[in-house]
Amino acid sequence: MTPRSRTVLPLALSGVLAVTALHTAGSSTPEHDAAPPPRAASSGGADAEYDLLIDDGHVIDPKNERDEVLDVAIDDGVIAEVAAEIDPTSAERTVDASGLYVTPGLIDMHTHLFVGPNDAYSAGWQSVAPDGFTFRSGVTTAVDTGSAGWENFDEFKTNVIDRSNTRVLAFLNIVGKGMAGGEFEQDLTNMLPGPAARVAQQYPDDIVGIKTAHYEGTDWKPVERSVRAGEIAGLPVMVDFGADHPERPLEQLLTEKLRPGDIYSHAYSGNRGELTEDGKVNPGMWAGRERGVLFDVGHGGGSFAWDVAVPAMEEGFVPDTISTDLHISSMNSGMKDMTNVMSKFLALGLPLYDVIEASTLAPAQAIGREDLGHLSPGAPADVALLELAEGDFGLVDSFGFRIDGDRKLVCALTVRAGEVVWDLDGRAAKPWMPREQ
Ligand SMILES: [Zn+2]
Repeated sequence: MTPRSRTVLPLALSGVLAVTALHTAGSSTPEHDAAPPPRAASSGGADAEYDLLIDDGHVIDPKNERDEVLDVAIDDGVIAEVAAEIDPTSAERTVDASGLYVTPGLIDMHTHLFVGPNDAYSAGWQSVAPDGFTFRSGVTTAVDTGSAGWENFDEFKTNVIDRSNTRVLAFLNIVGKGMAGGEFEQDLTNMLPGPAARVAQQYPDDIVGIKTAHYEGTDWKPVERSVRAGEIAGLPVMVDFGADHPERPLEQLLTEKLRPGDIYSHAYSGNRGELTEDGKVNPGMWAGRERGVLFDVGHGGGSFAWDVAVPAMEEGFVPDTISTDLHISSMNSGMKDMTNVMSKFLALGLPLYDVIEASTLAPAQAIGREDLGHLSPGAPADVALLELAEGDFGLVDSFGFRIDGDRKLVCALTVRAGEVVWDLDGRAAKPWMPREQ
């Protein structure tokens, strides 16, 4: 993503949810036939041209350079039409999105979703089951980052990917056992590029990259083997650079070891020299960016510091991709969820348009999934309806420090493959009426 400034049309948003009439026309059930919902007369019924119309929302769709109030029609699970005015009678159901932003479904590039009985991220209790945490924050695609490795990816695929309504993609851990715990993640004999590449090639629809993380040694083998696996499989590598070591400095990672398109996550952690002693962005970060290395937020439970993010953003070092590093402890501490992390970048001065781009189009491009992250006709109908709430909000980093913000993104409604999967205020629900006696 190229940093840029862009003026977003202001909307009068405060109190939107409280005062907006929820005009929604569903197919009415028999007991409610006598009292149709407000827009039923203007909706098209069961044989209408479109399944769903998202009416009058402010669309932000960076791929198509859209930043204006538009209607979005959905049919058969894909985006059918985006236009200034689409006739409500052409749709079976209409959702009133006035006062809301309508964006491509959010793509969270850094998550841990391989739940299971172990005490770890790999088939473990530190991970979370995706559908319980994604849709409520507008996320329709979540990329697991290395919870599973090449020895247990099939288990992740069967138990989580194939059972989730969220689109779950994965960076495959170079460690065969994945994130099975600290000692396993130091075992070089379990970090094998050949088997990792083979599994990645076996699951091309699911595996979008290779991950290395949590290494505490002084050598480059985990990074080198990940890059080798990435070369064989034609995939990017994401790095959590583990313990800070002078023997393998950050500059060398970003200027020599990683390739253009590889991803440095936890960019604002401060854990590995992202800032110099005098509080400037490490010149190696700028040099890496110059070469095309991508920088991901990966907030997590210990990887986002205001101490780093504030000076870095002042210097203009904006993230390529915004992500959560969702797991059981990050979500219950400062990180919370995707829209909360996005709100932090609003507070840091990143324009809303760019925040949306870094949470939709940019991650789709980073993982080579050009079919995602936009609202082009024919694209999967993954859509987020976001309220930009105004008020006093506390935004907490991974180290217990708060910045006060006056705007916060809140997910009002999420559509995944054309279905409403989250609806905070019942915009797509039928108004309740007393039963006829
Ligand atoms: Zn992580």
